[in-house]
Amino acid sequence: MKYQYRDREMGERILQKIGDLDLELTLMHVCGTHQDTLIRHGLQGLLADVGVDIRQGPGCPVCVTTPKEIEESLLLAKNGKTILVFGDMLKVPGASSSLSQAKTEGCDVRVVYGVDDGVRIARGIDNDCVFMSIGFETTTPSSAAALKAKTPDNFYVLTCNRLVPPALKAIVQMGEIRLDGLIEPGHVSTIIGSEPYRFISEEYGIPQVIAGFEPLDLLMGVYMLAKQKMKGESKVEIEYTRAVREEGNPKAVEVMDSVFEPTDVKWRGFPVIPDSGQELREEYGSKNARLVFEDILAELEGREFPEPEGCLCGEVLRGIVTSDECPLFGTACTPESPVGPCMVSAEGSCNIVYKYGKMG
Ligand code: SF4
Repeated sequence: MKYQYRDREMGERILQKIGDLDLELTLMHVCGTHQDTLIRHGLQGLLADVGVDIRQGPGCPVCVTTPKEIEESLLLAKNGKTILVFGDMLKVPGASSSLSQAKTEGCDVRVVYGVDDGVRIARGIDNDCVFMSIGFETTTPSSAAALKAKTPDNFYVLTCNRLVPPALKAIVQMGEIRLDGLIEPGHVSTIIGSEPYRFISEEYGIPQVIAGFEPLDLLMGVYMLAKQKMKGESKVEIEYTRAVREEGNPKAVEVMDSVFEPTDVKWRGFPVIPDSGQELREEYGSKNARLVFEDILAELEGREFPEPEGCLCGEVLRGIVTSDECPLFGTACTPESPVGPCMVSAEGSCNIVYKYGKMG
């Protein structure tokens, strides 16, 4: 089927075809851009009308960063380090405060647009600089490439990077939500390809489609999942063929794997997920902020870091509730005065639903 990226008539035809299959499906995606497309274009509601409920899972890197990781950056900031951070992280509350608050109290917290920006800042000052490295497989290769290319002696990395497939496995194994299919993220998949998702279809019988970000991409992705379900199939298909290859980008994966290695890590709203984090390999130990500033960070060991009171971000990130089902949504919690990270980040479900004023 040949189609333009935005074509109302074609969208209606795909919706009709999904409806004709007469299925009740609960699907999950793990991508802030997919959530934006779903809500901005009213697809959530249109799909609900044909029996499809789509939940956002742990697909926002800022949202899944834990209060402990934020406390680590705060402690380093309060100990005189320059913190280099993506703008979306600034207002995310840790257990005690936020980087935005620390900045107003005089800490040196600087917004960067990428790791190269951080390296540039470090080159221009004498102070120790700590780059809070956040992101999935999409952004981790650029951090890896920067470290391989040599960074100044005063540049360190606080790794908060995570891998998507282990989190999907955790969601499936936790079994808290019925899952008839997964819409896999296009950006991440341009790097890792389709192979790393395959075990989820083979071991757990869950259909998967890697989808692009235009409204028709998502509708087509849902239709492909519905057809798999109808035929009793479970495999990984690529809808986003204009960007994603089965093998992904082997060069980027090679660079990433040469600098980072998988490690067990907690995600916000989740317990520790085996092999879902990315830590610097031993040979990059001199760049690892957790090792270099071990004495400062020791203060945090053994402490508990509770979630903000009343915040359901963990449940939102596990797909158990939708943003507008949180009692604080739009009242105590707004983008101007956020309680949880899902209201702060542009990729957070609560922020997106608030911005467009509707779920569907
Ligand atoms: S509305 Fe606010 S408090 Fe509720 S889940 Fe979203 S971010 Fe958390």
